[in-house]
Amino acid sequence: MTGTLGVLSPTPVVLDGLPVRIDRAEVLRFQGYKQGLDVPSAEVLDLFDEALAMGERLMAPRVAYRAIPVERQAADEIAAGGEHLHIPDIERFWGGVEAVGASVCTAGDRLENRVRELFDQREFPLAVMLDSVGSAAVESLAEYANDLLCQAGIAEGVHVTNRISPGYAGWDTAEQRRLWRLCPGEPIGVTLNQSCFMAPAKSITFLVGIGARARVDHYFSQCRRCWMRDCAYRRVPADATVHRENGGASRGGGLRGAGPHSIGG
Ligand code: SF4
Repeated sequence: MTGTLGVLSPTPVVLDGLPVRIDRAEVLRFQGYKQGLDVPSAEVLDLFDEALAMGERLMAPRVAYRAIPVERQAADEIAAGGEHLHIPDIERFWGGVEAVGASVCTAGDRLENRVRELFDQREFPLAVMLDSVGSAAVESLAEYANDLLCQAGIAEGVHVTNRISPGYAGWDTAEQRRLWRLCPGEPIGVTLNQSCFMAPAKSITFLVGIGARARVDHYFSQCRRCWMRDCAYRRVPADATVHRENGGASRGGGLRGAGPHSIGG
């Protein structure tokens, strides 16, 4: 990995070459399978293996990150870097935070270019599976970045909350542009258009809260689903149900993806 992650870094940091593995359960979730209920056929699993190998070859994970001191915080609002972010219930979810960390993560464009080629060649099942692999790849990357921030935060004496993104948990997608101004994606090759769509499409923006009193999941539950296998601050071993990196973990839990996870665990 290149780039060093300081959780309170005021200058933009770019992380490259991250050792992210694609979460198989996440891919199947994007394919519409319900974990524990739906069992994919052997044919689907073969397709999955082919798409996964292709996706791992093509993905180029990169993360941009920057921390910004909080100027004002209210029940549904955080002001930082001159931007006013309106996030329902954020004070209840995060408690008092001294800074926010803004990030853009991308799986790169090679994977989605290959999806387009496969559609052009009418290889529809593989194209759709590879598209799900791409969605899972960037989701796994954002989880990895959130876990890295947790680990770096403990070393720096602060808590880092779970991530939240525009379009989730009631946060208006239109605020993507405000988040973008806090941490632009151009240094990692991601652009944002007038309609707030990113290119490459397999990209995610997120925000975390940072502070000595910031509310996080109880570490005994958080560590259980965290994939930072060698984290020196780990309280308990990763749960057996986690999926990443040979015994690593996913922060799956009840509120997957970009919304805040349950608090207080
Ligand atoms: S193992 Fe626990 S303390 Fe370490 S990064 Fe993961 S959640 Fe944070």
